[in-house]
Amino acid sequence: MFSEKGTKLLIIDNYKFGFQKNLADNIQRWICTKRKCKAYIKLNGDCLCEEVLTHNHESEDDGKLVRQKLTNSLKRKCDKLITERPSKIKRKEIASNIHSESLLQNDINRVHKYLNAAKLRTIPKLPSNLEELHKSVSEYFIICILYLHLVMTIVDFQINDLKF
Ligand SMILES: [Zn+2]
Repeated sequence: MFSEKGTKLLIIDNYKFGFQKNLADNIQRWICTKRKCKAYIKLNGDCLCEEVLTHNHESEDDGKLVRQKLTNSLKRKCDKLITERPSKIKRKEIASNIHSESLLQNDINRVHKYLNAAKLRTIPKLPSNLEELHKSVSEYFIICILYLHLVMTIVDFQINDLKF
């Protein structure tokens, strides 16, 4: 899943880990996102080569994690995917989330508000001259490329989710 800032997070036993640094031999060190916690893991590609999973705090509850995951991935998609209507993105997203039944109505409303706000910011103006028309055509191509990139990101995201 992704954090609010869009950085990648790994979930292990309902604890969130964020990337810390690259070590020698392609090994990555990921640390618990709670500041004073000393839990960490070392990854070599897809292999967990070292782990210290002793946390000094409680794990996140399932519902909260699912909601965070959904809102943060929606935010990411919104920022990239600006051609589809917000309600369409939301339906798709919820349909692809197995735990969506645990979403509270409040969360759905909040997500919806965010989507609408994002959409308003990105609505293109109608071109009033040839120069603007050219500009909107090239924006359309950029959107297509972003869309392709997004589809690939989602696939990647789902594969990564299955790992842990
Ligand atoms: Zn921890």
